[in-house]
Amino acid sequence: MTEFDPQAPLTTGGQHGYLRIATEEAWATQELMDEWRRMIEAGEGGTGFHSLIGHYVTSDSDRARFVREHLVDSGERRIAHMDAAGVDHAILALTSPGTQAFGADVGTRIARNANDELAEAIKKHPTRFSGLAAVSFEDVPAAVAELERAVNELGLKGLIVNSHIRGRYLSEQEFWPILEAVEALDVPLYLHPNTPNDSMIGTLYEAGLDGSVFGFQVETSMHALKMITSGVFDRFPKLRMVLGHMGEALPFWLYRLDYMHGGMVKAGRYPAIKPLQRTISEYVRENIWITTSGMPAPEPILFSRKVLGDDRVMYAMDYPYNYEPDEVRMQDALPLSLPEKKAFFQDIALDVFDLDENVIRGA
Ligand code: MN
Repeated sequence: MTEFDPQAPLTTGGQHGYLRIATEEAWATQELMDEWRRMIEAGEGGTGFHSLIGHYVTSDSDRARFVREHLVDSGERRIAHMDAAGVDHAILALTSPGTQAFGADVGTRIARNANDELAEAIKKHPTRFSGLAAVSFEDVPAAVAELERAVNELGLKGLIVNSHIRGRYLSEQEFWPILEAVEALDVPLYLHPNTPNDSMIGTLYEAGLDGSVFGFQVETSMHALKMITSGVFDRFPKLRMVLGHMGEALPFWLYRLDYMHGGMVKAGRYPAIKPLQRTISEYVRENIWITTSGMPAPEPILFSRKVLGDDRVMYAMDYPYNYEPDEVRMQDALPLSLPEKKAFFQDIALDVFDLDENVIRGA
């Protein structure tokens, strides 16, 4: 069946040939939301924080209310929505900007409590939820220790980073012990968007384009590129990274990135641009997996599979920001064979996040 059918039933259990594993599903603790609200009311934090969180925490619009009410649910209401959309399993991670609006003390406390709470939700619903660890990147040794605890003791499956760390990036070597730990634990780093930092947000904000509509993608694809061009993946060649939102458009740019980066290296044009062991497109193809969160249209999915490989693109919903059962139907209707669809919805996620199919099936 490759025809989009708005009446198609969406069931869990995999009778149609695959489980649907949604790989980028947003979640928040009440403690996190309360601290964000306090900051908004106190006027603390940057322009991007106020644009994004000020809206979702205080707006009376239907969308903002829906999002903030469902972000904090890791139980029955979320599961009911997963059932209605045919989603078998969701990988939860702290929504943007997570702990990354805070200094080290508050961030470390909220991350630790969030990891504990997430582990409890997973213990209660092991067939439905897995999760990614949160840390405060502002205290690197504490972040390494918390990541190790979250993976080894709590069973979390990777690390979420909601892009820039109050204007700083994982290309900065100060953060590399965290990347070293991610690589050593052999878990993926999920690089999720944030609104642009204060030195780049101005024009986007004035245009109303700083958020998930476009600014997220500009900021996050730049973060991924800064990591590549700074040599992160030469230093940590086995580091696995996941990008949502169709790879933040990087699949579309590969030729130009390779061509221009090569030219800049030869010309010695910038101190930040230096020779690398591989081409930009090789890092994107070899170290990065992408998900379809909020990007259910078939053309870019098929294009990305073509340029990155059919083992690199996996399904995500981006709940509760995108809760549209028709988006699941659109992806069910991709013109792919059943084994290809099984890889897209299920097998790549099992592999990348080291999930146990038997646990998800309750077998
Ligand atoms: Mn998202």
